[in-house]
Amino acid sequence: MTTGLPEDDYRKLRDAVFATIWDELDPLEEQIENTEHLPYDVVLPALRSCGAFGLIVPREYGGSGLSIAQYLPILAEFAKIQGGIRAVVHVHNSFAHALSDFGGEEHKKEILPGAATGEKSLAFALTEPGNGTGADLSTTARRDGDEYVLNGRKWLITNSDIASHFLVFAKTSEKDVSAIIVPRDAPGFTIAPLPETMGCKGAEHGELTFTDVRVPASALVGAEGEGGAHLERALEISRVFIAASSLGTASRALELSVKFAKERVTFGKPIASRQAIQRYLAEMAADVYALRGMLADTAAKWDAGQRIPAESSLLKQFGLEAVGRVTDRALLVHGGIGYTRKYPIERLYRDARLNWLEEGTPTIQYLVAARELLEGYEFADAFSL
Ligand SMILES: Cc1cc2nc3c(=O)[nH]c(=O)nc-3n(C[C@H](O)[C@H](O)[C@H](O)COP(=O)(O)OP(=O)(O)OC[C@H]3O[C@@H](n4cnc5c(N)ncnc54)[C@H](O)[C@@H]3O)c2cc1C
Repeated sequence: MTTGLPEDDYRKLRDAVFATIWDELDPLEEQIENTEHLPYDVVLPALRSCGAFGLIVPREYGGSGLSIAQYLPILAEFAKIQGGIRAVVHVHNSFAHALSDFGGEEHKKEILPGAATGEKSLAFALTEPGNGTGADLSTTARRDGDEYVLNGRKWLITNSDIASHFLVFAKTSEKDVSAIIVPRDAPGFTIAPLPETMGCKGAEHGELTFTDVRVPASALVGAEGEGGAHLERALEISRVFIAASSLGTASRALELSVKFAKERVTFGKPIASRQAIQRYLAEMAADVYALRGMLADTAAKWDAGQRIPAESSLLKQFGLEAVGRVTDRALLVHGGIGYTRKYPIERLYRDARLNWLEEGTPTIQYLVAARELLEGYEFADAFSL
């Protein structure tokens, strides 16, 4: 059971983060989109000073200890502005949450206080160039005395340019996966950038190569072979985070569309007076409203200590479809000028497409949700009012 911060403290923190988002970070959009780089000299101090890196780190390790229900609106707000910043915040907080959730006491003491202030940066390394998502891995971690020796490659790893610690999923036997923390400066560990992305520009999603990288056996998170279970649990809540990002992007696209529809006059009347445009707006609002309700339900369940494997995959899938429909319609409401960079709609449209890929593609979400349903998931309890 997680109650999070007392309401007054939460409001103060949330307002401070929102002020940083809109006053300090949103004005960087044009610069980031033009240069395809995050100005870390501005972004990182701003994120650190408002406490964005420690939002869901428990208070005993120096974080704010927000409940998931308290964290989601803040992450959603980040998803309204330039998407590269949201990617940095999301990945860092997801790893910190995973470590708080299933890390050992030593790892928590070593990493979480620095992660909470942003002095340490975190990255989550699962995806590989030669393998699919999940447990289909080639990277190996062979036990050698008091050490693990890692070999293999990962790619598309967000925060690869700034992370001090990487949570790496590797095979410790033919069938077992383990989670191991690798520091950036481990000998034999090299990091290279990948080409720029369609959206969420500026964040780096690089390629990692492990060549006989030796880390102490204490770098193992939990027990050997528990990596698959850790991964499932980390992804279960992280998919909810992606759906919150979908909500933020969709809400901003709706808000901009309502404003534009009232201002844009064609044939002597604002387009907002046309029934066809009204229908677009109402459909967009229905998606936003439904997504908000699903997020509130899953957050309440997780905060109450329940597992949410079916809900989180269904939610992540619904979220990406919803933000897809909403940003499509937002583009239509804006007409041709929406396809230019005069308005943030074209950026929101591109940023939203990352939500298809983060924490697993649609086919994976269908697979997980259907597996739960077919294996006797109590959906009467889960889904009835
Ligand atoms: C900008 C960005 C940032 C990212 N950040 C991270 C990160 O920080 N850490 C990290 O580990 N990963 C990260 N990823 C990787 C992301 O999680 C994966 O790209 C995604 O999970 C899909 O995996 P894949 O690219 O290997 O696609 P593939 O597995 O090659 O899939 C290709 C297509 O085949 C389908 N498919 C594949 N296998 C199956 C199957 N068994 N059954 C049915 N359909 C299947 C997929 O759904 C997809 O449609 C990032 C990706 C991007 C684009």
